This record gives sequence, structure tokens and C-alpha cells, in this order.
Amino acid sequence: MRDTQRPVSGITGHRGVVEEGTVRVGDTVEAAIDAERRQDIERNHTATHVLHRALHLVLGPHAQQAGSLVAPDRLRFDFTHLQALTPEELARVGAIANGTILANNRVHDDWMDQREALASGAMALFGESTATASAW
Ligand SMILES: [Zn+2]
Repeated sequence: MRDTQRPVSGITGHRGVVEEGTVRVGDTVEAAIDAERRQDIERNHTATHVLHRALHLVLGPHAQQAGSLVAPDRLRFDFTHLQALTPEELARVGAIANGTILANNRVHDDWMDQREALASGAMALFGESTATASAW
């Protein structure tokens, strides 16, 4: 499996390469999740929320996510701010984010519609179809 996309609500599309044989319309296929890779991606996804919160605390609520890359081995977080971070701001963001990670709080999912989640104080990241509540 190379990629999974949700082109429309309720439909999950999987993109991959057939390495053996052929696939015809109506065939049944078996897909398996690489659990270790998935957990690496989940950890980096959670880290984007941790970083977003730290940026809010240090820079203010205008520091909004403007894009991101979440991969098993790294993440990139693009955000809006009027100038480059000073070394002091960068150190504070790092200290808050690392402190949150070291606290090793339990991460959990609460499923609700986006309007309800935002009303409860959740922070939604750019492009997410669901909001994620901060549990720390
Ligand atoms: Zn999220």
C-alpha cells in the first residue's frame, strides 16, 4: 500500500502496486496495516498537535497551522507568524513541546462532530476533517 485517501466522506481509497498476478473488478483483496509504521505516523501526528499548542502559548493564537507533512520518520509543521522565531521563542516552544512529550500523558480519541469539538475547546489542525481535543 502506497497511500490511503478519503476522496469523499464514507469512501476510503487505497493506492498500491499489484506485485503478483492481476486484479479484476469484483475480486476480493486483503489489505494489511503495517502496525509499526502506523504507530510511528500516529506519534508524529500527535507531535503536530503538541507543537501547535506550544506555538500558540509562545506566539499567540494567530500562529495557525498552514500545512504539514507527517511521515513515519519525521514531521514538518508550517504555521503563520509575522516574523522568524527568535532563539528565545524557539527555545520556549521546544521546552513546552518536550515537556509535554516527557509528561507521557495518555492520548485518546473522542469522536464528535467538528462544531461540537470546537465548542468544547478542541484545536483543529489545517485540513483535518475532525478536531482533536487536547488532553494535557
Ligand atoms: Zn489530529
